[in-house]
Amino acid sequence: MTRRKLVAGNWKMNGDRAALAELDGIAAAAAAHPAIDVAIALPATLIAAGAERVPALAIGAQDVHAADKGAFTGCISANMAKEAGARFSIVGHSERRADQKESDVLVKAKAEALHRAGMQAIVCVGETLEQRDAGEAERVVTQQLEGSLPDGAAADWCAIAYEPVWAIGTGRTPTIEDVAAMHGAIRAKLRDLVGEGGDAIRLLYGGSVTAENAPALLHASDVDGALVGGASLTAAKFVPIVAAAAGN
Ligand code: PEP
Repeated sequence: MTRRKLVAGNWKMNGDRAALAELDGIAAAAAAHPAIDVAIALPATLIAAGAERVPALAIGAQDVHAADKGAFTGCISANMAKEAGARFSIVGHSERRADQKESDVLVKAKAEALHRAGMQAIVCVGETLEQRDAGEAERVVTQQLEGSLPDGAAADWCAIAYEPVWAIGTGRTPTIEDVAAMHGAIRAKLRDLVGEGGDAIRLLYGGSVTAENAPALLHASDVDGALVGGASLTAAKFVPIVAAAAGN
C-alpha cells in the first residue's frame, strides 16, 4: 500500500515570534512538494501567529489535555489549540512521558480528545536504551502502542511516531535494519489492533533525523515519514529533510 509521506517538525520549548520567519521557507518547501505532507508543532504561544503567517502549512500543538474543558490550570484543550490554528497535536512524546509521568492510558485519552475536536494526532512510542540493551525494545514498543492507540484509530486522523528515547537529541540513530524491523513490528501490531485499516496508518521515525541521514531513514521499509526535533528549527536544516521525503 502507498502512504503519503509526512514530515513533521517539533520545536519543543524553542522559538519566539522572530523565529516564525523560518516557517516561510518551510511553507515554500511544502508547496514545492505537494506529494507529501509537511507539518510543524509549535509552542502553544506561537500557534496563532504561526498559523496566520503560513496558512497553507499544517501548524500543530505539542500536547493537549485529555478533557474538553475544566479546572486544569495551565493546560490547553484540543479545541483551544484548534481555535488558535492547530490542525494536529503530538501526544505521548517521550519527554512528556518521562517528565510529566504520562501513562499510555492518558496518551490514548489525549489522542481521543483530538479526534473529538476534529484534529489529527501523532502518537509517540519508543524504548529506552536500557530496554533495547535488554532485548525488550519490540515488546515495550508494541505494548505502548496497544495502550496508547486511540479507539477508532484511522489513517485520516492518526499517525504513529516511533522514537527510540536514546536517539532523541543525541545524534545517535538506530541502524536502518533496526528501524525497518521495529516499523514492521508496529505495522503487524496495528493490523492486530485495527484490522486492515492499520495498513493505511502512517508510521514516522523520530530521533536525530538530519539532512544527511534522512534519505536512508525515510526510505526504509514501512517508514512513512519523520518526526524531527532539532533539525526542524530552521528552514535550512528542515527543507532538505522534506526534499528527501519527497525523493529528491
Ligand atoms: C523529537 O523531539 O521528537 C525528536 C525526534 O528530536 P530530535 O530530532 O532533536 O532528536
